[in-house]
Amino acid sequence: MADMNDIHSQRCFHHPQREAAARCPECRRFYCRECVVDHETRILCADCLDRLVTARAAGRTRSGRGLMLRAFVGVILLWLLFYGMGRILLALPSSFHEGQVWRYPAEWSEP
Ligand SMILES: [Zn+2]
Ligand SMILES: [Zn+2]
Repeated sequence: MADMNDIHSQRCFHHPQREAAARCPECRRFYCRECVVDHETRILCADCLDRLVTARAAGRTRSGRGLMLRAFVGVILLWLLFYGMGRILLALPSSFHEGQVWRYPAEWSEP
């Protein structure tokens, strides 16, 4: 099992005659220096780079759609919040005034 992780005993996935120089963190296969590409601080094989770029492009459109949905939900939630706050603000003063108008004269006239 230790040999599996030892890069010097590994050969390039595409070039069996060449010693492996790097291991792709995505597919966990070994490659020679020519078969790997530096990509944003990581070293990837060409296959995985292709896959990653395609996935990211797809993810961008998906997250863009998700952003639209989130904005829509946010507007609904905000509307509900203001609607609820409006209801509470409308309901509060009426009960407040009721208590003041009707309770105080009764208490004040008691003694
Ligand atoms: Zn790979
Ligand atoms: Zn190679």
